[in-house]
Amino acid sequence: MAMNKVALVTGSTSGIGLATARVLAGHGYDLVVHGLLPAEEGQRLARQMATEFGISTLFSGADLTQPQAIAGLITAAKDTLGGIDILVNNAGIQHTAPLHEFPAQKWDAIIAVNLSSAFHTMQQVLPLMQAKGWGRIINIASVHGLVASVNKAAYVAAKHGLVGLSKVAALENAACGITVNAICPGWVETPLINQQIEDIAKAQNISLEQAKVALITAKQPLPAMAQPSQIGELVHFLCSDAAAGITGASLPIDGAWTAQ
Ligand code: NAD
Repeated sequence: MAMNKVALVTGSTSGIGLATARVLAGHGYDLVVHGLLPAEEGQRLARQMATEFGISTLFSGADLTQPQAIAGLITAAKDTLGGIDILVNNAGIQHTAPLHEFPAQKWDAIIAVNLSSAFHTMQQVLPLMQAKGWGRIINIASVHGLVASVNKAAYVAAKHGLVGLSKVAALENAACGITVNAICPGWVETPLINQQIEDIAKAQNISLEQAKVALITAKQPLPAMAQPSQIGELVHFLCSDAAAGITGASLPIDGAWTAQ
């Protein structure tokens, strides 16, 4: 019997990563569930998904700011599940402040999690994919990989970097059966943006619901957030044979944000 393909989705304990992991699990991929959760909780989540979808899973709580921890994550995936065929670099964090006040520690943390971690995972996973002559790498960037917004210096720099990194990896591996793409979502309904909604509500003295509408419509012609599973469905398509010719692309799901 052919072995299932194995997918590693970083940051799959929440939001877009969790939804993407569930879409891939639903299609029978074995999974490395990863994110900042206490080990017991993470293992419970991974076991639940294994039972629900009839797949093999592994939980890792590796801190992506630590290259050593990333190496451990890849080794654990190889040893336990037999390799990594699909790598989704999804984990990300946010902090908003004007550049002249941006805390240096927040800059370092955002660059580490949103950009450098993808360099480290790709560096270790590409040789496995090259050996097999097949692989899919999907980097969850953002519209902020394509355009800027105020108060997001580190996030915009990291996401532009991630888009560029994806292109380089696509070029280097185009003849090896490996595709590398970036997905660039606009607003997606996840915990990542709660702080921004709360800040608007406080500043304008309006309800959270009103603040959410204000946040979306300030940027997006389509006045609704995407659902995390909609990002997961595009990830799944990029893993399919139908998408074998899509590589080096930066694909917006942004309600026409970047069409302007
Ligand atoms: P989220 O806050 O719901 O989930 C983030 C995940 O990353 C969690 O699993 C968390 O444990 C993990 N993580 C954070 N720091 C980590 C660290 N140091 N080590 C290991 N894991 C860590 O966020 P989300 O909205 O689902 O975001 C997922 C990705 O999508 C991010 O890269 C984000 O920039 C991007 N994105 C989100 C939106 C949006 O509107 N929500 C829009 C565009 C792009």
